[in-house]
Amino acid sequence: MALHELKRLADEVGEQQGDAIVTLQFSLDAQRRHLIDGELEANLSIPCRRCLEPMSVAVASEFQLAIVSSDASAAEVPSEYEPVLVRDEQLDLLGAIEDELILSLPQVVYHDEAECAVSREQLSSGELPEEESSSRTDNPFDALKSLKGKL
Ligand SMILES: [Zn+2]
Repeated sequence: MALHELKRLADEVGEQQGDAIVTLQFSLDAQRRHLIDGELEANLSIPCRRCLEPMSVAVASEFQLAIVSSDASAAEVPSEYEPVLVRDEQLDLLGAIEDELILSLPQVVYHDEAECAVSREQLSSGELPEEESSSRTDNPFDALKSLKGKL
């Protein structure tokens, strides 16, 4: 699966290169529902929260999808399965896999301190990158610190 085709993923972490490795196993359950057991692996390039330089992040996820033809049957799917609705006889499997990929993204990524473009000295001397310093005024810990000084 070509990562650069995944527009919603690009909205989350920027345009990606390369491929995701996706393995899908199709089966029918006792209620003759179509089930998919899937695995995905991808190497993504995600900006470091500290220096904003992209860094390579490996993500992997296992997922279970149930193909359903109506919202009513989606409600009957066992909870471990994610229902995927067939609309106008179209199954948006790519969209469902993209969802899984987005869910598997780490919340925040940072370089190891030694590799980060924002060095340890900058951090300890209080020279924060622009993005963080702009939000410093409403940092509750700053308010606590100034309070502490007065006590
Ligand atoms: Zn960094």
